[in-house]
Amino acid sequence: MLLEVRDLRVEFHTRDGVAKAVNGVNYSVEAGETLAVLGESGSGKSVTAQAVMGILDTPPGKITGGEILFQGKDLLRLGEEERRQIRGAGMAMIFQDALSSLNPVLSVGDQLGEMFVVHQGMRRKAARARAVELMEWVGIPGARERVGQYPHQFSGGMRQRIMIAMALALEPALIIADEPTTALDVTVQAQVMDLLAKLQSELAMGLVLITHDLGVVADVADKIAVMYAGRIVETAPVHDVYKAPAHPYTKGLLASIPRLDHKGRELYAIKGLPPNLTSIPSGCAFHPRCPLARDRCRAETPPLYEVSHERGSACHFWQEALRG
Ligand code: SF4
Repeated sequence: MLLEVRDLRVEFHTRDGVAKAVNGVNYSVEAGETLAVLGESGSGKSVTAQAVMGILDTPPGKITGGEILFQGKDLLRLGEEERRQIRGAGMAMIFQDALSSLNPVLSVGDQLGEMFVVHQGMRRKAARARAVELMEWVGIPGARERVGQYPHQFSGGMRQRIMIAMALALEPALIIADEPTTALDVTVQAQVMDLLAKLQSELAMGLVLITHDLGVVADVADKIAVMYAGRIVETAPVHDVYKAPAHPYTKGLLASIPRLDHKGRELYAIKGLPPNLTSIPSGCAFHPRCPLARDRCRAETPPLYEVSHERGSACHFWQEALRG
């Protein structure tokens, strides 16, 4: 197994109290596999990813339990220097906003080339040539002429391609992409997502794709983990989820995707708001918003029930949800 997150727990100490951001998350990714982690903002999906990358702000964040096994090693037991070496060469991250993640005062060629200078001891001229190759690899037209340009001289979609090139430059075993297309318009979103999927399969990397948008994962993910209030509430192969979700929250997320064949109909929205993480509701955290909620849901926290060999649902009434 390439990555295995086991019973991970993360808290944030805030003025309003302790925010329980991640409450016992388990997931795994194999080489060549794509896991989509889905949920609204505040569900814990990005915090989990930051803990895996070792870029969580501590304080205010604190990892209070669990293990993060990467190629069999528990990352939480490594020193900062070992973690730094794994970042870049072993695993890399693609962020939502390329403009604030790239250095505005360095040319794109310098930033891409730097990776090879620092990690592989390459000479500057050779590193520049590799930068051009990388730009061509991610589909930037006129790479040779544009290698000396600065990030602001590229469109949003092209900047995102540059970020992908930077993340993939050292051919890491694992990529974590946190909402990589959210800031782009719909057509460019599809192109960038296709590129990411193509390169991932070329390099047989593991990919953790974090998104709030179930619409973008259908064609690229192998399996899905749906998060709510810091827990995984449903996990399944991607096509099973689309066919018949086994958790009312996943069902709500699916129903809120705009569909061309539903033109003119009002878009479904899950009622209410995600919970405040300093006071997560008792029992099933989703109960204040759930159309199937009843007394047991308020009293008992559902475990992740086994729906089938590869599927789990943290709903006491998953059979009912599955039946629709
Ligand atoms: Fe809804 Fe109850 Fe299932 Fe939670 S356990 S998702 S509240 S039916």
